[in-house]
Amino acid sequence: MTVHFPFDNSYARLGAAFSRPTTPTPVAAPLLLKLNRPLALELGLDPDDLNSAEGAEILAGNHVPPGAEPIAAAYAGHQFGHFVPQLGDGRAILLGEVIDRQDRRRDIQLKGSGPTAFSRNGDGRAALGPVLREYLVSEAMASLGLPTTRALAAVATGEPVYREKLLPGAVLARVASSHVRVGTFQFFAARGNDAAIARLADHVIERHYREAATAPNPYRTLFECVCERQAVLVARWMQVGFVHGVMNTDNMSIAGETIDYGPCAFLDTYDPATVFSSIDRTGRYAYANQPVVARWNLARLAECLLPLLDPDEKKAVETAEATLASFMEAFEAAHLDGFRAKIGLETSRTEDGALIHDLLALMAREKADFTSTFRGLGKAAESEEAEAVVRALFDDPIRFDQWAIRWRARLKFESRSPAERRRAMDAVNPAVIPRNHRVEKALAAAMAGDLAPFERLNEALARPFEDRPDFAEYAGLPPKHEMPYRTFCGT
Ligand code: AMP
Ligand code: MG
Repeated sequence: MTVHFPFDNSYARLGAAFSRPTTPTPVAAPLLLKLNRPLALELGLDPDDLNSAEGAEILAGNHVPPGAEPIAAAYAGHQFGHFVPQLGDGRAILLGEVIDRQDRRRDIQLKGSGPTAFSRNGDGRAALGPVLREYLVSEAMASLGLPTTRALAAVATGEPVYREKLLPGAVLARVASSHVRVGTFQFFAARGNDAAIARLADHVIERHYREAATAPNPYRTLFECVCERQAVLVARWMQVGFVHGVMNTDNMSIAGETIDYGPCAFLDTYDPATVFSSIDRTGRYAYANQPVVARWNLARLAECLLPLLDPDEKKAVETAEATLASFMEAFEAAHLDGFRAKIGLETSRTEDGALIHDLLALMAREKADFTSTFRGLGKAAESEEAEAVVRALFDDPIRFDQWAIRWRARLKFESRSPAERRRAMDAVNPAVIPRNHRVEKALAAAMAGDLAPFERLNEALARPFEDRPDFAEYAGLPPKHEMPYRTFCGT
């Protein structure tokens, strides 16, 4: 039997400047821990074929399937504000691209599949914990309806990786609409290679922004589209309490997908200054700073695109600045719309911004749980008695009551029935998110050889907008922690 992948590798065809042909390094004992069967089907792959010894060999990188042209992509990037002219796929190898059942081009990449020309001092490997973490969280994001890379499979390698201590190794098979990053453009800009920038921009337009192809200035439209998608993406992150944690320019997908699930995590208690990553000492990538950082990253992209925007440099700068100036407006609009829906508003009134702002400020001050507050508001929108559950989330519930009076007054301007409003709110306010304490428990069990908690959490996260009594424990609040939650890049 041979697992068939319908490969068509447009990125490999871009040429030698963009990537290096790289064969994955075989691992000792590939064992398929988790296969995403629905995603395999979407990709036009046979999940039964993949769920085999040969499938595990392929997904671990031991066997390169026919039609694959494995490459490591070149890219640069600003890491915490410092430019590194060469990063690249140091521990990921793009097997190739398939055209999925809905005619979308999707990358299949193996993360942790051995050293590449871009590994620098790294081993090219990934540890089991971070691989399963990315699996859980990226799939949770997809189920929440956010643009994201996906997880096709997690394979144990049967080999240790050397970090602060010895850890079991794994490979993640990751799927993305592409892996082009802001940092990919920066790689060529740093080398003054304008021809490569144009070629890359054309590739991105063809792949992600066809509407730009026929615009009067395709590259200008491309930049506008990228900014728009990022604005919406960051707004949506914030609407589910997501903190990316390492928004370096090499971790910002040009397609507007969430990518690079290293130190990311979700808020429990709402605090806009939340930083989870142990290496983010200045709060550069804090929850509330995400739009500011996205804009900063897009300014770096604009610098790369200047030669394409206009032959006259002054005009090119003006064009880029005008678009960047509208980024915050686009973000604010998406943010306001999203939170309007979260508090059950269908129409818009001038006081809505203040109503939302005041709720969030109150949640921060009174240490309310982000997810439970909004989910609870949906119930309270249907029946006033249910308001008791929400107010109990606030340290000082009386302050919530004062806000709720304003909220109910505002709802009087709306025409939906309470039941309809509840349904609409439940569709945007998840009951279940990957809560940190749950993720940690599932990973700890997996490290000890028990995948059952990982499987169950994964199942709980698959239908986040439903109240499922069987999975009620995943909607519950974490135990009170003395120490703030911290994540580690775990590379
Ligand atoms: P990240 O923090 O995951 O975005 O990675 C930043 C850069 O470091 C990328 O170029 C990665 O490919 C590279 N990198 C991270 N971990 C490793 C590793 N274990 N081996 C080789 N390269 C790595
Ligand atoms: Mg990265």
